[in-house]
Amino acid sequence: SVTVGVLAMQGAFAEHQKVLSKLSCKIKVIPILVRTNEDLQKCHALIIPGGESTTIALLARLAGILDPLKEFAKTHPIWGTCAGAILLSSQAVGLKKGGQDLFGGVGICVARNGWGTQVESFEAELEVKGLREGERGFHGVFIRAPVVLSFLPQQPDDPPIQVVARLSADVVPPLAGLDIDPSIKTDQTDVVALRQGMHLVTTFHPELTKDNRFHEYFVRECVLPSVQASTR
Ligand code: GLN
Repeated sequence: SVTVGVLAMQGAFAEHQKVLSKLSCKIKVIPILVRTNEDLQKCHALIIPGGESTTIALLARLAGILDPLKEFAKTHPIWGTCAGAILLSSQAVGLKKGGQDLFGGVGICVARNGWGTQVESFEAELEVKGLREGERGFHGVFIRAPVVLSFLPQQPDDPPIQVVARLSADVVPPLAGLDIDPSIKTDQTDVVALRQGMHLVTTFHPELTKDNRFHEYFVRECVLPSVQASTR
C-alpha cells in the first residue's frame, strides 16, 4: 500500500481524502490527514488542497511544518490544487501584502487570483493528456484560481515541465490589477495542469467533481514510480 497525505490546515482537504479512499488503483491507497511533521513523515506523497494559500502557509508555519514541507518536496511527490498550486510554485505574484511563504518544488511563476473579479469562478472543459479512458476531456472547476504565467528557467538537474491540461484559446485570464513586473513572462496562461518530475499542479479542483481520473493519474504516474524508485 501507499500512504498519501492530505495537508489539513484549511480548505478542501476532506474532499481529497474522500476521493482517495474510493480509488481503484493497482495498489491500495491509504489517505491520512497531515497536521504535524509526525503525520508528514508517514507519507509517501502529499496533496496540498485548495483553500486560501496565505492561511494555509501561515498555519503550516505555526504547526512547525513549513521547513519539513520544503524538504519533503525535494524527495516526495506533491500535488497542489488551486491554493496548493500556488504553494507548490517557486514564484508567485498577486500575493497578500506582506507576502507569504511558498513551499516551492515546481519551477513556475503563478498569479494568485489572476482570473480577476468578473470571472473569479468558472467551469471549463479541458483538453487533457495522459489521463486515459479514451482521453475524453476533463470538467475543470476553477474557484478564484491562480493563473500559470510562465515556466522559470531550468537548472541543469531540473526535470522538464510537461503540460497535462490546457484551456481552450478563447478563455483568457484578465490578470487585472496584478501589477506584474515586466521581467516576468506571461506566455503559459492557458496551462491549467502540469507536471515537473514527480510533482503535479492543477489550478482547478478535481476533488469537487465525480471524475477521479486526476487522483488516479497522481497515484499511477507520480506516486508509484517514486515509491518504486526509492525501494529499488
Ligand atoms: N484564491 C485562493 C488563494 O489565494 C485560492 C482559491 C482556491 O484554492 N480555490 O489561495
